[in-house]
Amino acid sequence: MLDTRGLTGRVIVQSSPGYDEARRNFNGRFNKFPEVIVYCQIVQDVVNAILWARKQQLPFRVRAGGHSYEAYSLVDGGLIIDVSELLQLQINKERGTARIGAGFRLLPLYEALWNKRVAIPGGTGRTVGVTGLTLGGGYGLLSRLLGMTCDSVLEVEMVTAQGKIIRANDCQHRNLFWACRGGGDGSFGVVTSFTFRVHPIENVARYRMTWDFVDLEKVVRYWQTWAPHADARLTSLLLLPAQNQGDLRSNGVFVGSEQELKEIMRPLQKVTRPKTADFYSTTWIEAARMFAGRPVKQEIFKNSSAYAYEPFPDAALDVLIHNLQTAPGPSNMVAFDAYGGSISQVPPDATAFVHRKALFVLQYQSYWNQDTEADKNIQWIRQFRKSMLPYTCGAFRDYCDSMIPDWPAAYFGENFSRLKKVKQMYDPENLFRYEQSIPPPSV
Ligand SMILES: Cc1cc2nc3c(=O)[nH]c(=O)nc-3n(C[C@H](O)[C@H](O)[C@H](O)COP(=O)(O)OP(=O)(O)OC[C@H]3O[C@@H](n4cnc5c(N)ncnc54)[C@H](O)[C@@H]3O)c2cc1C
Repeated sequence: MLDTRGLTGRVIVQSSPGYDEARRNFNGRFNKFPEVIVYCQIVQDVVNAILWARKQQLPFRVRAGGHSYEAYSLVDGGLIIDVSELLQLQINKERGTARIGAGFRLLPLYEALWNKRVAIPGGTGRTVGVTGLTLGGGYGLLSRLLGMTCDSVLEVEMVTAQGKIIRANDCQHRNLFWACRGGGDGSFGVVTSFTFRVHPIENVARYRMTWDFVDLEKVVRYWQTWAPHADARLTSLLLLPAQNQGDLRSNGVFVGSEQELKEIMRPLQKVTRPKTADFYSTTWIEAARMFAGRPVKQEIFKNSSAYAYEPFPDAALDVLIHNLQTAPGPSNMVAFDAYGGSISQVPPDATAFVHRKALFVLQYQSYWNQDTEADKNIQWIRQFRKSMLPYTCGAFRDYCDSMIPDWPAAYFGENFSRLKKVKQMYDPENLFRYEQSIPPPSV
């Protein structure tokens, strides 16, 4: 029997009530059985968990919102250090900062910030953890105006591999602070809180447009040259479902008036002639709630990503269309998220998040219900990504994919060598280790 003495917080072992719920992540493709899960409620619980794992020589993973695409926050037979109950929040509106516990999920966080009429440029998924999202970079509906999520981080509090509590910011532990903004997920220590710069926000406008599949070429051709260069107050997304699986659609949020948004959208409308075009004046929180979608406990999926640094030539559009015409199931699609704006104002080596100059990120997506459908969907994702490689490069760390062979170059490009040096400084024993963690330089 495992001796859990020394672990503090809410400790769940395999025989505990609630184990089955606690061992699961958002992606139902994975079925892992950790030995013990500790829900840390104060920072000292994290310290104790690390010291305990070292003593027991047990593998461990760190979990916040549990939305890792490849379930990298789970491990069979090991310890899960879960920070989802670290939920302190201190908002200082005058200084424009918020100290945010590492356990927050996005929509509850946006609601709490909205009480003070402030926001951070986080992602859309309602139950995604702010911690995993931010450590991988983080993109959302305010990103073209306010940058990647990690660009608003002022300080990171972390428990190190030695069990020390430290704070990394622009003045101290600067290399670690750099690494945590795009490459910090699960590789250096356990983040227990962030201090964010928060941004005043009130009313916004949003739009939704739809087209038939036959218009795909026309829509992509125009959107890709327009969305990354549009007014930075507008963040625009384009979703291309497989043929016969619904309309092509574009959504976006504009921090300004509906009237101005209509003006900005006019060129796209004129050229692509959408079937429907709807505009709404709303509050930021209403828009965030709308994009967060309905509550879902789990989905079974395989996603991947790549970046477009140049507009796609016609040959790329042919490949895109072919893949969408040969999709194996009803829930296969590719989404484009526009970059540019504030994202591109930060130099690629200023934080670990390197893809500053991309025009947009593509997210290849596939969802299914039965195990028997897994292989064909996973193969479709692999093939789709591969066939677009002549026209794309890199990948987004937050949309991690275990099948990308050269993942260090894909996620981090030139920044990988510095990440390895930071690893050497903070975790030379490689205690924080998983399939795509940052290795020390010797590995
Ligand atoms: C439905 C859905 C919607 C999404 N929407 C967006 C979006 O709009 N924008 C976007 O950019 N991304 C989005 N993502 C991707 C998301 O950002 C990543 O999956 C992110 O890693 C999830 O973070 P998490 O805390 O929920 O996951 P977890 O699985 O808990 O963690 C993810 C990674 O971070 C590490 N980690 C977790 N906690 C800590 C900690 N305290 N200290 C150090 N490392 C830690 C884990 O070990 C793991 O490697 C979405 C994902 C899903 C499933």
